[in-house]
Amino acid sequence: MAEETIFSKIIRQEIPTPLLYQDELVTAFRDITPQASTHILIIPNKLIPTINDVNEADELTLGRMITVAKKLAKEEGIDENGYRLIMNCNEHGGQEVYHLHMHLVGGQPLGKMLNI
Ligand code: 5GP
Repeated sequence: MAEETIFSKIIRQEIPTPLLYQDELVTAFRDITPQASTHILIIPNKLIPTINDVNEADELTLGRMITVAKKLAKEEGIDENGYRLIMNCNEHGGQEVYHLHMHLVGGQPLGKMLNI
């Protein structure tokens, strides 16, 4: 069994964090340390530690993460100018929280994709 992270507590609102979106599959809220003027995290309600742990049964959830990202980008008013969706995996990917999540970042030019 994977160990829960702080994100499970946010999903259950045991740690009160304003939610931008929640349904039976996914939850979205603002990143506590924003890297751009819009920085939202979209996460599955189910604990999936990394992209490596995804399986076919999760395909609906992963698709929902994208459609929620699109909806929130429009609500934030960043859809026309554009934005970036990022999913980090494990150490080399820079993953810090081992509960799968998608970063929605935008609201300003984001520069080149990788800054190695
Ligand atoms: P990762 O590096 O794992 O892809 O990204 C984890 C993200 O979660 C980071 O951007 C970090 O700022 C954010 N984060 C970590 N703890 C919390 C928290 O308690 N609340 C919120 N809203 N974001 C968090």
